[in-house]
Amino acid sequence: MSTKPIDALALAPHAANPMLSRPYRVQKVRQETPDTFTLELEPEDKQPGMTFAPGQFNMIYAFGVGEVPISISGNPAQPNSLVHTTREVGTVTRAMRQLDVGDSLGVRGPFGVGWPVTESRGADVVIVAGGIGLAPLRPALYQLLAARKYYGKVVLLYGTRTPPDILFRRELQQWHSRFDLEVHVTVDRATGNWRGNVGVVTTLIPRAPFDPHSTVAMVCGPEVMMRFTVQELEKRGVALENIHLSMERNMKCAVGFCGHCQYGPTFICKDGPVFRYDRLQPLLAVREM
Ligand SMILES: Cc1cc2nc3c(=O)[nH]c(=O)nc-3n(C[C@H](O)[C@H](O)[C@H](O)COP(=O)(O)OP(=O)(O)OC[C@H]3O[C@@H](n4cnc5c(N)ncnc54)[C@H](O)[C@@H]3O)c2cc1C
Repeated sequence: MSTKPIDALALAPHAANPMLSRPYRVQKVRQETPDTFTLELEPEDKQPGMTFAPGQFNMIYAFGVGEVPISISGNPAQPNSLVHTTREVGTVTRAMRQLDVGDSLGVRGPFGVGWPVTESRGADVVIVAGGIGLAPLRPALYQLLAARKYYGKVVLLYGTRTPPDILFRRELQQWHSRFDLEVHVTVDRATGNWRGNVGVVTTLIPRAPFDPHSTVAMVCGPEVMMRFTVQELEKRGVALENIHLSMERNMKCAVGFCGHCQYGPTFICKDGPVFRYDRLQPLLAVREM
């Protein structure tokens, strides 16, 4: 029997070098909405899966096509199944959608600072999501619900353009039936047999059941939606330092080196993507470069 010590870095070289992709295999593909799909992935090297914090993202490499940042949308308590929910908008995301079960892609990560889930213990938590913005927030919800007794009210406000754009429908229904979670969904425009709320997601904020003086808000969606959401939360009396937003900016290295997502001293990739609103305010005024 060999007595050679096992070289952990030889087994997992990606752990030492954040620029090195680790190969993952597609376990499951699920079409969520007409333009959005979820991939469930497992590491090809059969080593333990990825531990991550809610709100963190990975760089996903579609071999021969390119690499893009995508948030993790799965359950942090189940690290052996890596889950990403992606909207097909261009070259790389289209290549990702064309993958089948058994196909490979490269994953670097997890990167960035996520949602302040543990730090919010003792407070009410309101989650406001627009469209695909629910994907980066889903791990936060899983974590909140896993430690439910440590929080006051937990409220999810979710808006999409039309009913077919609603993500994670089955899960939303399950969450809706829980008595310890308040879920309100709205659509900008009703189609089909939709009988629910109609109007942008900010219209749900004035009557949402949370105590603004003891609330942490986590917000993700299109930038315009996040701006109006902050205004409404502020009107309700939520302190700006208790509002957290996730920012999307073009990035390449994801480790604060290349400067693609740099604004002055701040890197979206490593100081974010989740920021406290009062620290983010100056950046929101700067358009994508
Ligand atoms: C930290 C972070 C986390 C992210 N998490 C997710 C996620 O969980 N799920 C997800 O789907 N996306 C997420 N994104 C956005 C995702 O990275 C981009 O959609 C992706 O890089 C587009 O690459 P592409 O090659 O497919 O498109 P490209 O070929 O680069 O772009 C094609 C066209 O689409 C436009 N475009 C690019 N991005 C978007 C966009 N986000 N919305 C609308 N139009 C766009 C471009 O301007 C261009 O006109 C995240 C981005 C960041 C920075």
